[in-house]
Amino acid sequence: GEREAALTLHDIHAGYDGALVLHGVDLTIKSGEILALLGPNGAGKTTTCRVAAGLLTPRTGTVHLAGRDTTREGPVRRSRAGILLAPEGRGIFPALTIDENLALYLGERTDRDAVYDRFPVLAGRRTVPAGSLSGGEQQILALAPLLQRPPKVLVADEPSLGLAPQVVDEVFRLLTELRDAGTALLLVEEKAAEILGVADTVAYLAQGRVSWCGPRADVQADRLTEAYLGMG
Ligand code: ATP
Repeated sequence: GEREAALTLHDIHAGYDGALVLHGVDLTIKSGEILALLGPNGAGKTTTCRVAAGLLTPRTGTVHLAGRDTTREGPVRRSRAGILLAPEGRGIFPALTIDENLALYLGERTDRDAVYDRFPVLAGRRTVPAGSLSGGEQQILALAPLLQRPPKVLVADEPSLGLAPQVVDEVFRLLTELRDAGTALLLVEEKAAEILGVADTVAYLAQGRVSWCGPRADVQADRLTEAYLGMG
């Protein structure tokens, strides 16, 4: 049947000090859907993520989480309600061990064991400080526990930035598993192949508005390149 709208941005105008960056952004992401937000540098992709996660309050417009108006709520309140921001993957505590990091999100031993079963790379190193993991392993450590308690919405701003190619595949597999568990994903990503591999819906941001939004199947590969050159 028709899946519910998990996150809805309506007519968002937002920016910094004098400068407005978003001039009326409309976006809807359903539960169990990955929406990839594309656009040239400076188009406002990160700003859109910040508005979605509650780090930036829009001048006008509304943010709804599962039908509830959350526009005036900050990030902590919003994360309790089910919107999480994955800021370039980190969000882990480097001085704590892997197991301690997982325990912050997953109190139950059995939940942590489920993570270790799924990610052997973490299992073998549960007592080492998280800071000794590679960037990609840290990204997996940050995202893996979400699979046990999938958030309603996950905002991921370039989750593969700076990661080694083998780990990038693992990170995207994890994101699709979250999607399959019902999470609505707002994904900002520059890697065209990954976008085509995982996105259900693609939206182009241009001049502070969504200029095109549609199913991934309707996206022509060369339009991805155009989007980044600012011609899309
Ligand atoms: P990129 O791909 O380069 O990250 P983006 O699409 O994510 O670009 P944003 O980071 O949202 O774009 O930036 C949009 C505009 O807002 C840019 O012109 C940027 O210079 C400006 N901007 C971003 N953050 C701030 C800030 N904290 N203070 C003032 N201006 C900012």
